[in-house]
Amino acid sequence: MSNNFYLDNEDLRFYIERAVDWPTLVEAVERKFTAVDSPKNADEAVETYKEILELVGEFVAREVAPRAEEMDRHPARLENGKVIHAKGFDEIFDQLKEIGIYGLTVPRELGGMNAPAMLYFVLCELFARGDVSVMSHFGFHTGIAMALLQYSLREGTTKIDETGKILETRFQNEIAEIIAGEAWGSMDLTEPGAGSDLAALRTRAVKDEHGVWRVTGNKIFITSGHGKYHLVIAKTEDRDALDAISLFLVPSVIERDGQIIQNVVVDRVEEKLGHKGSPTCSVQYEDSEGYLIGKEGEGFRLMLMLMNNARIGVGFESIGVCENAYRQAKAYAAERRSMGKTIDRHEIIADYLDEMESWIEGLRAMAFEAAYHEEMATRLEYMQHIPSLKGDAHEVRKRIQKHRWKARQLTPLLKYAGAERAVWMSRMNMQIHGGNGYMKDYPAERILRDSLVLPIYEGTSQIQALMALKDNLLGAIRRPQQFLSNMARHKLGAIRAESELQRRYHALANHAHSAMQHILLKIAKDKWSVAMAGPLPRFVDTFLKHWDPKRDFSFGLLHAERLTEILVDVNVARLLVKQAERFPERRGAAERWLERAEPRVRYNLDRILHTGDRMIRKVKEMDRQAAKADAEAAARSGENGSGPRKADGAAAKQSTAAA
Ligand SMILES: Cc1cc2nc3c(=O)[nH]c(=O)nc-3n(C[C@H](O)[C@H](O)[C@H](O)COP(=O)(O)OP(=O)(O)OC[C@H]3O[C@@H](n4cnc5c(N)ncnc54)[C@H](O)[C@@H]3O)c2cc1C
Repeated sequence: MSNNFYLDNEDLRFYIERAVDWPTLVEAVERKFTAVDSPKNADEAVETYKEILELVGEFVAREVAPRAEEMDRHPARLENGKVIHAKGFDEIFDQLKEIGIYGLTVPRELGGMNAPAMLYFVLCELFARGDVSVMSHFGFHTGIAMALLQYSLREGTTKIDETGKILETRFQNEIAEIIAGEAWGSMDLTEPGAGSDLAALRTRAVKDEHGVWRVTGNKIFITSGHGKYHLVIAKTEDRDALDAISLFLVPSVIERDGQIIQNVVVDRVEEKLGHKGSPTCSVQYEDSEGYLIGKEGEGFRLMLMLMNNARIGVGFESIGVCENAYRQAKAYAAERRSMGKTIDRHEIIADYLDEMESWIEGLRAMAFEAAYHEEMATRLEYMQHIPSLKGDAHEVRKRIQKHRWKARQLTPLLKYAGAERAVWMSRMNMQIHGGNGYMKDYPAERILRDSLVLPIYEGTSQIQALMALKDNLLGAIRRPQQFLSNMARHKLGAIRAESELQRRYHALANHAHSAMQHILLKIAKDKWSVAMAGPLPRFVDTFLKHWDPKRDFSFGLLHAERLTEILVDVNVARLLVKQAERFPERRGAAERWLERAEPRVRYNLDRILHTGDRMIRKVKEMDRQAAKADAEAAARSGENGSGPRKADGAAAKQSTAAA
């Protein structure tokens, strides 16, 4: 096995050493080099980043990866109300504490290193290549410290001086504890009846007679939920709406008059298929003291801020899993012989390995781009608080919006494709291992089990696809002229663009626009038919005003994943073609991507253009039957005096999970 997961990775080093626009990013991170103890210039900063990457690359190869198997075999568990870590887990985190890595991105004046979030994301990849559970727990240190700081900045409880140096911040003690390795946090969203649909959550927060917020409820599947600082979303109003949700910091223990009071209880650690080193907890709050973050009703929006970063983090984590699977497969295939040669020279296996490598290159291109734009937007926003660094407010606002928009476009694509490909690659790795892959003697089966959570947490793949669909369709609806002119530009580019690579990229982008156009026309046509079927005087209102996304966008929702796959292919093509123009030695990566992406896009486009009507009719009929059954049940319960029946599966799920 390699002894440094950073140094042995040429594609990753290409980004760090050549592709990332460090001068712009470092200038933003170091606030034009006025930050406390700032490096003199970008080169000096990048040298430090490389040292950190080499250090962590070696640490993961030597200390994390070799412990992955024992953590899997002796997982985290609950004993007498206490969470016991997986075997080997504490040795890793004790060493990380000594290295002092938890304050990686925290400003220096708060005891951190003020490194870019980009570096943190790359560490996520390195850790995940060693072990996904370790990566997750690591993330709940640095990630939570940064979230607390960002929340405080946003709500105006952080004081900064004229250079942007932080003088004091609301969560100073919590951040200090986390970066010292004395505490970590968790994101407590999911409940038995609310996962993808957070508006349905039941955890409540009410103010007591002393004005203290009291949180009551149960959160499940909480990664590292045995930590000290819980970021909890809870309803502060009695409505099933996202703006009825607020965000609270709920510490697991509270110190009062020298006494330690237990504020939350972990009542279960899940037994899971994979990801076994990571304690996945059920957390109970009963009148638990909580501290409101931001304003009432802002909880969902604030959580999304954290989730955008977390989703990019899962993108990098997925690449780490892909690297692990691909490298295991490649090494095994180079050794294993069948029918007179090593199996990596059999056409089918060679093709698998080539496709795996191509996906890693594509995913990484997207991951770095998403991370760059997300971070630039955040850093430029921060500089808006500093009069001397503000610049031309209008110009900077435009830059921020551009970065935010790009990050927003890429994040669901990255989360979706990264997670789905990590599962596929882990499965291919197992297949390439043949019978051995199925046995515990080889890590292939563990990597596959570990990978399976990636399309589930931080928003499932389906939810990512719905987000990508929504953003793209709404963009086209709001700016139809721009949509059509882009389409024309790509059509023309497919014929007239200067280089062959560009022409091929434009052809793909044109297909993406055709897919979106078809979905939009189909939605409009169906709505038109509905409006025509109704009374004529109501036609205009029905067609132009009364749009219900769940009902009227049915055709789009059905094809959301196919459209997302197309958008992934197109966006990666755009990035790799651009890269090939800047770095001729990357041409091979772009060509390989296009060769594989072109038939995939045609296939997905074909499915969007030519399938769907039957499924839409089927779903509509199911909806109709369910509505009828609900109405009948309501009528029956009205007759015999019992209350109305709970209409959806969430209630059933809640009681099942509780049982
Ligand atoms: C190991 C692990 C760790 C986790 N860590 C955390 C954590 O730290 N904090 C936390 O809060 N949560 C955590 N979760 C929970 C995770 O975020 C949820 O499981 C996830 O959001 C899905 O919610 P759910 O399980 O309720 O599934 P559901 O929402 O019930 O979804 C079930 C299926 O239906 C699909 N679906 C739902 N709605 C739609 C729709 N409108 N259109 C199409 N398909 C749809 C989903 O994609 C999924 O395939 C963790 C989960 C696991 C397994």
